[in-house]
Amino acid sequence: MKNIIIIGYGPAGISAAIYLKRQGVQPLVIGKDFGALEGYDDKVENFYGQAEPIDGKVLIQNGINQAKHLGIDVITESVISLKSVGETFEVVTTSHTFETKAVLLATGKTRHTVRRAGFTQFRGKGISMCAICDGFFYRRKKVAVIGYGPYMLHELDFLRKMTKDITIFTDGHAFDDEIDFPVVREKITKFIGNEKLSHIETTQGTYEIDGAFIALGTPSSVEFASQLGVIIEKNNVVVNDKYMTNIPGLFAAGDIIGGKLQIAKAVYDGMNAADAIYNYLHPKKSPGLSK
Ligand SMILES: Cc1cc2nc3c(=O)[nH]c(=O)nc-3n(C[C@H](O)[C@H](O)[C@H](O)COP(=O)(O)OP(=O)(O)OC[C@H]3O[C@@H](n4cnc5c(N)ncnc54)[C@H](O)[C@@H]3O)c2cc1C
Repeated sequence: MKNIIIIGYGPAGISAAIYLKRQGVQPLVIGKDFGALEGYDDKVENFYGQAEPIDGKVLIQNGINQAKHLGIDVITESVISLKSVGETFEVVTTSHTFETKAVLLATGKTRHTVRRAGFTQFRGKGISMCAICDGFFYRRKKVAVIGYGPYMLHELDFLRKMTKDITIFTDGHAFDDEIDFPVVREKITKFIGNEKLSHIETTQGTYEIDGAFIALGTPSSVEFASQLGVIIEKNNVVVNDKYMTNIPGLFAAGDIIGGKLQIAKAVYDGMNAADAIYNYLHPKKSPGLSK
């Protein structure tokens, strides 16, 4: 059993890990990529202590290296599911299952969407980002699952309990697993409907559908949070002044909770969340922030 698992090794997650370690708590940090800065070559010029503009990815990598040098366990894996089990949590990655007393969501704001015609129009009207949240409404209906990897298989496992009429749309991504559902491999071009989604158009044809579940890549913070029934407002996870969500033991920090989407603010959140997590894990004694 872990004390605390931090999902995300961006500025918020690493900052929390460092402050926890300094208070004698050993966190496990799980991240999968450079977060907000993945896929960009932007230079960061406004973060304290950088005499010259620094490549964003170098700054993030420096943070990860700093944590490792301090003896913090940092692993690169995608978290595909988060569940609460009694008073603890189960964190499932692409290759491990961990149990932990507390979780810090520091997963930033990345979302995997399908930016094609009709996506925004039918989001919430037939297009869902969370099988566990919305699958129930599609019992015995015709459902599309849009995805290709472990996260798609995870969502599929849930949806197959609701309906047998499922088609996988890989949206052009490679997918070689044996599967007992039809697989449409071509790119999606359009989501079609009137009030609600009714069809998916691809480069090769048009498919009738009652609902579509997006399960591309790995889930982002909002999906994790939704799976657990966390309160979300305007796409931000809602936390109290102790950085705790409405689920005891589930904390959130950084871009995921909104406010200024900046490295300095994410670092500040991480520091404060660490103190709150320490107090949660040690309810009777609080040494305050480490010096
Ligand atoms: C192009 C661009 C330029 C920017 N330039 C600046 C700048 O100059 N100055 C500035 O202050 N801010 C800048 N920002 C904003 C800054 O990058 C973010 O505010 C900051 O990175 C937020 O930190 P975070 O720790 O909350 O999230 P992120 O840095 O986004 O980190 C999220 C972490 O969660 C991990 N994660 C997510 N999902 C999973 C999962 N399923 N499993 C495992 N791990 C997961 C990711 O791998 C990553 O490690 C920029 C942003 C962008 C997009």
